[in-house]
Amino acid sequence: MWWFRKLQDKVALITGAASGIGKATATKFINNGAKVIIADIDQELGQETAKELGPNATFIACDVTQESDISNAVDLAVSKHKQLDIMYNNAGIACRSPLSIVDLDLELFDKVMDINVRGVVAGIKHAARVMIPRGSGSILCTASVTGVIGGVSQHTYSISKFAVVGIVKSLASELCRHGIRVNCISPFAIPTPLVMGEMSQIYPHVDAQRHEDIVHNAGVLKGANCEPNDIANAALFLVSDDAKYVSGHNLVVDGGFTSFKNLDLPAPNQVQ
Ligand code: NAD
Repeated sequence: MWWFRKLQDKVALITGAASGIGKATATKFINNGAKVIIADIDQELGQETAKELGPNATFIACDVTQESDISNAVDLAVSKHKQLDIMYNNAGIACRSPLSIVDLDLELFDKVMDINVRGVVAGIKHAARVMIPRGSGSILCTASVTGVIGGVSQHTYSISKFAVVGIVKSLASELCRHGIRVNCISPFAIPTPLVMGEMSQIYPHVDAQRHEDIVHNAGVLKGANCEPNDIANAALFLVSDDAKYVSGHNLVVDGGFTSFKNLDLPAPNQVQ
């Protein structure tokens, strides 16, 4: 029933929407009445995803490290649908880098920052360009639990995600004056292609099912696993009018993982 659709006639652009969290969110937005621009560096998968999602999905090739690609994707939303209501800066990469700061690969660091940080800033810049004149809009970014507490992943990825949380707070402070909300989501680990690629490098001797189990078993909430649809639900809330007074917020979707550390003391009868 269309009147239950939270994003009826809204226009959204999602980067990294060919796969994983971005694809699940594009699906959720379309099911809620939105038209979605799928912007992704992977042309084959992006086209396949747009076809699968139907006439309300449009693919555009976009490498978020290229400002002109982001600018073109924003302009496509406006030329095709007359407006851009929602910008979701979700594209990101993981990386395997040495665990110690003394061995840090700064070339790899720059590459990750280019996509995970600069790409997000460029996305907000161009979304703001078309949202400010309309005096409204909702901007969302994907951060991570690795940007909430240290020690969850290696430094390069973790630093990039701490930066995303900072970007959101800094830019929300300006864009609130134009009626634009800026928020991010920090997911726990989900076995998307990004994570499964990492797992197969760390544990090449076991199969994909075992990799998935390892990822899910790292969670703390009994009886539930973190899935792309959990992030899509959080995204739908944040970009819809349900969150019309929420800005500068980092919505952590982690089953409580970053909120506590249970003390594992020995039982009294084990202490001599
Ligand atoms: P995914 O690999 O399924 O999707 C990432 C998408 O981004 C892919 O379609 C890929 O082609 C695209 N992409 C990569 N580089 C790009 C570029 N330069 N320009 C445009 N598109 C590009 O992975 P995912 O898990 O869905 O990741 C989405 C976001 O979620 C990332 O920012 C990631 O860091 C973040 N995240 C993931 C997890 C997790 O456990 N999966 C947890 C926390 C945060």
